[in-house]
Amino acid sequence: MDEHFEERDLKYIWHPAAQMKDYEELPPMVIDHGKGVWLYDVHGKKYLDIVSSWWCNLLGHCNPVINQAVKDQIDKLEHVIFANFSHEPAIRLAEELAKIVPRGLTKFHFNDNGSAAVECALKVAFQYQLQTGHSERKRFMCLTEGYHGETIGALSVGSLDLYAKLYQPMMMDNVHVEAPDCYRCPFGKDREHCQCECFQYAEEAFAKHGKETAAMIVEPLLQGSAGMRVYPPLYLQKLRKLCDASGVLLICDEIATGFGRTGRMFACDHAGISPDIMCISKGLTGGYLPMSIMVTTQKIYDAFYADYSEGKAFMHSHTYAGNPLACAAALAVQHVFRTQPVFENAAVNAKWLTGRLNDTFGRHPNVGEIRHIGLIHAIELVADKEKKTPFEAKKRLGYEVYKKALEHGLLLRPIGDVLYFNPPLNITQLELDTAIRLAKESIEDVLPVK
Ligand SMILES: *Cc1c(COP(=O)(O)O)cnc(C)c1O
Repeated sequence: MDEHFEERDLKYIWHPAAQMKDYEELPPMVIDHGKGVWLYDVHGKKYLDIVSSWWCNLLGHCNPVINQAVKDQIDKLEHVIFANFSHEPAIRLAEELAKIVPRGLTKFHFNDNGSAAVECALKVAFQYQLQTGHSERKRFMCLTEGYHGETIGALSVGSLDLYAKLYQPMMMDNVHVEAPDCYRCPFGKDREHCQCECFQYAEEAFAKHGKETAAMIVEPLLQGSAGMRVYPPLYLQKLRKLCDASGVLLICDEIATGFGRTGRMFACDHAGISPDIMCISKGLTGGYLPMSIMVTTQKIYDAFYADYSEGKAFMHSHTYAGNPLACAAALAVQHVFRTQPVFENAAVNAKWLTGRLNDTFGRHPNVGEIRHIGLIHAIELVADKEKKTPFEAKKRLGYEVYKKALEHGLLLRPIGDVLYFNPPLNITQLELDTAIRLAKESIEDVLPVK
């Protein structure tokens, strides 16, 4: 009998995005199996996964439809080189996705993780400008507090100090536009009624740097890693117009927002706009297998289409591009979308959840804002509710709540002091109710209400 999983894990494994010393106090939860929203560890303890295991698990763990699709595929073809070769799952997936992506997006370039899709988008935008006579357009614009992945290019268009600051000397010199900050709006407006006064920061940046910019990249409507910051569709509409007027491509990173997370298929759909390039991953395979896709317009594709000797091809590849198992999982997700009322149920539950969270936490003296889009709901904890002052970072309040939540059997991994629900779309009201109860106990353990 092999036991002591935790010690054996820590002997060799370096976990992602963590100070490993923290594991002395909080050893890894070693998961044996999952079912729906539940994860079961090797000791028989269960955790309700309210964060979809890093936002990717879209339809529950071990979803029977996706499981079967992957099982069926694995006995036919596990992987094949994707240059010159192809296979039915990839072909069918591209056909399916073509029906649901924003209008005008028609070409699908497969990669194997989100950051890789972002790298691709940046390189394609740069090369497109070069090959259409704009070699002066070498820089990128992005929003402050944005997050687009961890590789050097993706970090260069991100602005979260936590991940990026240390590596500054290695990075590209991009233009960081002050992002909408609706909770602490510098113009004193609220996101339901404003005219996106903060868009003036983008206008200023375009006036100054528009001509040297190849593309602007944004997370549409939801800056996830910034603490689930939600901003209005109007901002995207204005940005689309400004990009068009300035010859700047618009890249929408829908890696976190795609596939129903915001209540529509893609966040762009709320604004009725289409980007020139879109990146998708995470929910694409239901959170089963690593895959991402960069989707572009025909116009961009055409700028790379020429005789080989002209050297205009996009020479970018990843070994696992177009992996058939991942395609089979992604096709199964689309099948579930077509045959089950996933979006309808999620919409009803989202509305119900908003009410319940406001009732449960709205009066707590340390709950600053409860914001939401689709099923994603975030609770920002603050030291002073009136002044919206955050807690001292070194208190690690969110982390304290996280540890309590684990004791209670809830996986409520925070972003700083922002606690959030980002559950699978097919979570039930009963499961959400359990999550709310466990979250309340955990928050009140750390921040008791007098
Ligand atoms: C997760 C995420 C990425 C990076 O994807 P990885 O697969 O982790 O590399 C990029 N952009 C956004 C918006 C994300 O949420």
